[in-house]
This record gives sequence, C-alpha cells and structure tokens, in this order.
Amino acid sequence: MKTIGLIGGMSWESTVTYYELMNRITAEKLGGFHSARILMYNVDFAEIEANMTCGDWDANAEILADAAMRLEKAGADFIVIATNTIHKLVPAIEKRIGIPILHIADAAAEAVKRDGIGKVGLLGTKVTMTQGFIRDRLTAAGLEVIVPDGQDIDAVNDIIFNELCHGKVLDLSREKLKRIISGMAEKGAGGVILGCTEIGMLISGTDSALKVYDTTVLHATKAAEEAIGTVDASCHP
Ligand code: GLU
Repeated sequence: MKTIGLIGGMSWESTVTYYELMNRITAEKLGGFHSARILMYNVDFAEIEANMTCGDWDANAEILADAAMRLEKAGADFIVIATNTIHKLVPAIEKRIGIPILHIADAAAEAVKRDGIGKVGLLGTKVTMTQGFIRDRLTAAGLEVIVPDGQDIDAVNDIIFNELCHGKVLDLSREKLKRIISGMAEKGAGGVILGCTEIGMLISGTDSALKVYDTTVLHATKAAEEAIGTVDASCHP
C-alpha cells in the first residue's frame, strides 16, 4: 500500500473528513483491520489566511512547498492538498518535490464526466471561482463550467471563511447556497461541484437542486484508491 502525504489544516474542519474517509474507504475495500497509511502535515491556517488576505502567495508557496518536502522526506508516495484554493500553488510546489500531487480538480472532473454531465456549476472561495487553476483544469477535461454572479461570489466566500472554517453551520447560509445552486440549474448546469472542502458541511445531495460533487469526498476517495492500488485484500496484513 502506498503512503499518502496529506497537507491539511485549511481548514482543519475539512481535514477531519479527509482523514476519516481515507481510513473508512481503505477499511471497506481491504477489510479486516486495514487502515490508510497517512503522513499528515497540518499547517497553521492563520498564517495561510493572512497571506491570502494580503495577496502574498509567494509566502504561502514557501509554506506549502516546505510541507510537501517534509512529507516526501518522511516517505510519502504522493501528496494530497486538502483544499481547493491552495491548488493555485500546485505548479510552485511541484517544482520542489519529486513525488506527484493528486489534483483535486481531476477527482471532480472524473466523477462529473462519469455521470455524462457536460455543464457544471462551481462553488468555492472567491479565488477558486474567479481564477483559472480549478476551472481551466475542468475545462481541459471537457467540462463547461459556470460560476455564480459577483454578489453571490462574495456571499459564498463569506460563508466559507466567516462560518464554515470556524465550524459554524447556519440554516440561513444553507438557504443562500440552495438559491445560488438553483440559479445554476436554471442556467443549464447538470451538476454542482462543491469546490471548497468545507461546503459539504452545509450542503448535501438532498439539499440541492443539482447533483452534488463534493471535492472533499471525491479527492479523499481517489487518494485512498490510489494508495490501495492493486493491493490484494486476501494477503494479510
Ligand atoms: N478549504 C477551502 C477550499 O477548499 C477554503 C479554505 C482555503 O482557502 O484553503 O478552497
């Protein structure tokens, strides 16, 4: 079994889900006492958030590359960055390590395409919704991507940073997101990608007018499957 190098803490609320899912999926697939081999580096999100707020992406690239290098040195076979927004820094991190990064957008694109959906909504932080590092990758995979309008972009961003990253799950915000997702359905989207690892705390499939593609679940699942690879469950341990 491969060892997953998990960079978490952005926020830790969603890293908990990654950790749990990767272990649960490994146990389900391999049975017995199996669990995932995980090395985790949990960043201090205060530093990351402060750098994002003042636009110092170079400082964040340094922190994230350092985390990835430590995980590689400790024996990780591949890196999982447990947040969409920080995937902006994947090119900078990749230059500093010799192991692959399992990209969160690839996990989402595969799931959407498996369902035969061509046009999809994307929810996430303002950075994720307005810049190309996730959208372009989804487009390159053959998907048409739509995002909310200006005011709604700010509303979703506020819900993520002011509420979900602090573990606050509010009904009023769920209603806001449901309205935004309905608007995407009206514009022809066949599904919605929850392109922020905390949005799944607020929205599930049953809340939404569209089929939900939760990047936390899809990314953690792909990581567990990648780690298991062709391990033969009958050969214990
Ligand atoms: N976890 C979030 C994401 O998936 C937002 C927090 C962050 O900026 O890392 O984008």
